Amino acid sequence: MLPRPLYHLAVEIILPIATLWVAHGENRAKKFGRPLSTKEAADAKSLGIQSSECIRILEVQSIFPWEKYTRGVSYRYGILIRKDSLEDRSIVFHECVHTTQYERLGGIRPFLRAYLRECLIEKYPNGKLEQEAIIKTAKQFG
Ligand SMILES: [Zn+2]
Repeated sequence: MLPRPLYHLAVEIILPIATLWVAHGENRAKKFGRPLSTKEAADAKSLGIQSSECIRILEVQSIFPWEKYTRGVSYRYGILIRKDSLEDRSIVFHECVHTTQYERLGGIRPFLRAYLRECLIEKYPNGKLEQEAIIKTAKQFG
């Protein structure tokens, strides 16, 4: 366990490249993804997403090539969903909660700063942003 200021420093060091990574993923989904279905759009609206018409879903073989656990990821308005998880609407819902967090915190960089700090300090999935997504999804889909 490092002192907290060192975690904050580590986040500031990786933040520029992480922001580029997310912006690239968002652009990829905007270019090749599909708009939300009627049901997904209703879910997004119920979460209070300001710009749900901007969201694009991109279906992919894997989210991160180095692991098989992750089924979806939110790059703000670009949501990547693993092809074998498309039937599970709760995954898109969970990722839409993260989209609301990007909006609430003011964009990609401020969201990532908060989220990465949580991952390093609280450890995934114990941070409050991840827990918000888990709890809201559990309430919706039981
Ligand atoms: Zn999550």
